[in-house]
Amino acid sequence: MKVSEILKNKDVTISCEIFPPKKGSQLDNYKSVAEEIAKLNPAYISCTYGATGGTSDYTVEIADTINSFGVPAIAHLTCVSSTREKVQTVIGELKDRGIENILALRGDIPENADFPLPNQYHHAIELIREIKEEGDFCIGGACYPEGHPEAANMDEDLNYLKEKVDAGCDFLTTQMFFDNNIYYRFLYKALAKGIDVPITAGIMPVTNASQVKRAISLTGNLVPAKFLSIVDRFGDDPAAMKQAGIAYATEQIIDLIANGASHIHIYSMNKPDVAAAIMHNLSHIYTA
Ligand code: FAD
Repeated sequence: MKVSEILKNKDVTISCEIFPPKKGSQLDNYKSVAEEIAKLNPAYISCTYGATGGTSDYTVEIADTINSFGVPAIAHLTCVSSTREKVQTVIGELKDRGIENILALRGDIPENADFPLPNQYHHAIELIREIKEEGDFCIGGACYPEGHPEAANMDEDLNYLKEKVDAGCDFLTTQMFFDNNIYYRFLYKALAKGIDVPITAGIMPVTNASQVKRAISLTGNLVPAKFLSIVDRFGDDPAAMKQAGIAYATEQIIDLIANGASHIHIYSMNKPDVAAAIMHNLSHIYTA
């Protein structure tokens, strides 16, 4: 099923994100993780592609597995460090396996390499146009409530985002944010640019202190004082930090839903227990 249909037809959606294994020998374990998360009845599950040094080899297979559990899958696909041939191959595999949803991304530019490669991709928009020509996919794109780190300013970033949406994005998913006001302000700015596709809110449950540092270094996120005090107080106590991180993410989600921003994407990071705890906290707020 297409994610665009799900977002259109359901008032509240909660979806999850997982990542694929690095080695084929880990596939069975990762499929079990997908199954555990699928049992929580999220609206859909997305699987990343070569993110943060990971591999891209098993995204299609994990997406296929997610579909086999009766939960719609999104396969992420990046382009900037890929060749056109490789991208064509992956799109063909997705078609063959009946995977209808692709999150089309540029990907991070690898350090110590000459980019862009000749005749290859520069931006996600090129990939989106290519996927559009290849078949009847539902296409998602990434967006950045605090601005993409490479963008000169938010206005420029939003102009490119509008072009990306016009090229064929059916929905957008945000980078993680820890202060909902940042998301609300972003929605206003996006709407003012004429961006009118659903924008699902990316929520990262931070359950250990090192994740916070990593999240900030990856995205330049502004972290609210309230959140930093949680990390200061509980960061050295893994069980307490996990509980506090789940509570913080739950509170963020409840505030979003209460304010009408009802499409939530949990960066569940292959932690079914964390996703389950959040779903449990929302059991009367979200029903699949
Ligand atoms: P783009 O949309 O191409 O934008 C990148 C930068 O270029 C921005 O600064 C933008 O303003 C600018 N820009 C855009 N279009 C143009 C243009 N036409 N001309 C000039 N400048 C332009 N990474 C992975 O490797 N694997 C994943 O699975 C993955 N999943 C992600 C999921 C989500 C929800 C998000 C938010 C990010 C994800 N990423 C993933 C990270 C992503 O690849 C990086 O953030 C990357 O740096 C940008 O990708 P993009 O698709 O947003 O790029």
